[in-house]
Amino acid sequence: MKEQDYRSLRHPSQLGKIFSRLTVVEQSKSTKGKRVWLCQCECGNKHRATTYMLTSGQVKSCGCLKTDSKLIARRTGKNPYSLSPTGGMPSKTE
Ligand SMILES: [Zn+2]
Repeated sequence: MKEQDYRSLRHPSQLGKIFSRLTVVEQSKSTKGKRVWLCQCECGNKHRATTYMLTSGQVKSCGCLKTDSKLIARRTGKNPYSLSPTGGMPSKTE
């Protein structure tokens, strides 16, 4: 087997794959032997990430996802995803 075949087996192409908000559109220049992918975010921004960052779920957007959840948290004044059994909510007793 050619060395190139080994490489493509070990590092399958991520082109066209979607990771949350990111769609891989182009292979970018590798850094430190790691493949870097140019991704198109749903918000319109471009973002570069390595294969590992994408497949492991470390990167899900250009960064706008975090900003969004922060904004939501600020707007509602609480974390919509955590339901505390003791905190805040007045219990109805009828
Ligand atoms: Zn984005």
